[in-house]
Amino acid sequence: MTVLGPIDPDRLGFTLPHEHVMVDFGGAATAGPHRYDRDEVVRTMEPHLRAAMDAGVRSFVDCSPMFLARDPVVLRELALRTGMHIVTNTGQYKEPYLPDETFALLAEELADQWIAEWHDGIDGTDVRPGFIKTAVEPEPLAPVQQKVIAAATLTSRATGMTIGTHTCRGVPALQVLRLLDRYGVAPRKWIFIHAHQESDIGLLELVARSGCWIELDGIGPATDAATLSTLLQLLDAGFESQILLSHDAGWYSVGEPGGGSVTPYTDLPQRFIPLMREFGVSNASIFAMTVTNPARAFRIDPA
Ligand SMILES: [Zn+2]
Repeated sequence: MTVLGPIDPDRLGFTLPHEHVMVDFGGAATAGPHRYDRDEVVRTMEPHLRAAMDAGVRSFVDCSPMFLARDPVVLRELALRTGMHIVTNTGQYKEPYLPDETFALLAEELADQWIAEWHDGIDGTDVRPGFIKTAVEPEPLAPVQQKVIAAATLTSRATGMTIGTHTCRGVPALQVLRLLDRYGVAPRKWIFIHAHQESDIGLLELVARSGCWIELDGIGPATDAATLSTLLQLLDAGFESQILLSHDAGWYSVGEPGGGSVTPYTDLPQRFIPLMREFGVSNASIFAMTVTNPARAFRIDPA
């Protein structure tokens, strides 16, 4: 489900499954479109999306959740201008990016709001979410985080959307998987976001054996050694069909003059793919991780 409507997953092509057009780390109490100029955001970020397309990227999953400058109007305008398939999300992040209401509502009530976005669109637009973004950190999971995950499972079951969780480490990943199991959501409908931050490869493989998506989304020159080491071990262990690759890059920083400095979305296609080849990763593996896997991960299941 892109910001311009549903498309066949086979049309996604080379996909960046975790990036950001804009982020506002000001907190849930102040977040909103009054904090930035939409035209300036579009003007600033359009060249970066075009550069990614010139490098072969066709689809872009925007992972900024509500209360962190998720803006359907900006994303739709960028998709119309560039032709990039852009996917946005419903769901909520973690403290201090949760409004007071999230602590008061039941999981079912939160899910009702997110399911309404799926059916009716986000913030009065016809832009619908394509996945459910959540966050847990640090472990053990705080009660509000368990509630957000429960709400995400209800939303996933009602809509067919996949859940992605900012998790970072293996232990909370196992805790999330236990919750998914309790609420009847299959591990293949869950993306372990920032999995490259778990340095214990044995623990990472234990999580991967569940069948969930393992997202190595910190790609950039500064992280090559760690990312390559983890990636090559996961490929050796047979998890090619579960790996997702992205930069977690961008973005227009709300509150900074001109949006601050933006990290491009081109490192994976232009530099890291040749580097993977040097380390013996096959073209078939690279195609699986950058094209086939994202198309399967973000597929909307019949609800
Ligand atoms: Zn991110």
